Amino acid sequence: THFGYRDVPVAEKQKLVGQVFSSVATSYDLMNDLMSFGIHRLWKRHFAAISGVRAGDRVLDLAGGTGDIAALLLPLVGERGEIVVGDINAAMLTVGRDRLTDRGLVKGVRYAQLNAQALPFPDRSFDAVTIAFGLRNVTDKQRALEEMHRVLKIGGKALILEFSQVRQEWLKPLYDFHSFQVLPRLGRLFAQDADSYRYLAESIRKHPNQETLLAMMDRAGFAKTEVRNLTAGIVAIHRGYRV
Ligand code: SAM
Repeated sequence: THFGYRDVPVAEKQKLVGQVFSSVATSYDLMNDLMSFGIHRLWKRHFAAISGVRAGDRVLDLAGGTGDIAALLLPLVGERGEIVVGDINAAMLTVGRDRLTDRGLVKGVRYAQLNAQALPFPDRSFDAVTIAFGLRNVTDKQRALEEMHRVLKIGGKALILEFSQVRQEWLKPLYDFHSFQVLPRLGRLFAQDADSYRYLAESIRKHPNQETLLAMMDRAGFAKTEVRNLTAGIVAIHRGYRV
């Protein structure tokens, strides 16, 4: 397929990632529900619930295009808080903004088209930085982690929700079958796009596993880093603090 990212120069890859998400932005929700049997909603709710985000916090939600995480965090930051939704893709940001606006979520949320690898914010400007199902798509993940660390206030935290490595042997064959047989077919049927979903399965396998990502966070300067597996490690939540 043309998604053989390994051989593609970095700038090209960034452009391809943009195209993938433009082509799936509209059928994105339906696909997420079909692919995960609706469980992605629970993962996101759990992510927000354990985030420790509090009233008055200023939060940056990276790769936040769908608005899903912002919708969950807005009630937590309350009247005095603020959520900045950042995404590299303008179409995704529009989808997210429309969706939040339809739900009456307008106050306290701002939108910024940005690349997670070079954040357009000064040092120490956020109480929390979140990224859900987004780090996997960033070309230079180490750089993105360093940027997340840089824009955090002292005592602030980064929270990463992402696919990780399945930790139950019995689940692995089922998971592989689902990833490589079911996903591309769902993609073809419901999004007229098998390639994007083949890329999804491959990108999950190539993404750093629990321990590797922890080590990358340590290297980026985070303290008290920890990881929590959800659904046998299909996804994991990584957390780290700026101290
Ligand atoms: N956080 C949302 C959610 O959980 O539903 C959206 C996740 S979606 C799978 C990944 C998002 O990452 C897309 O909206 C894409 O545009 C964005 N993205 C990809 N590379 C990025 C980058 N380098 N910087 C910022 N956003 C990026």
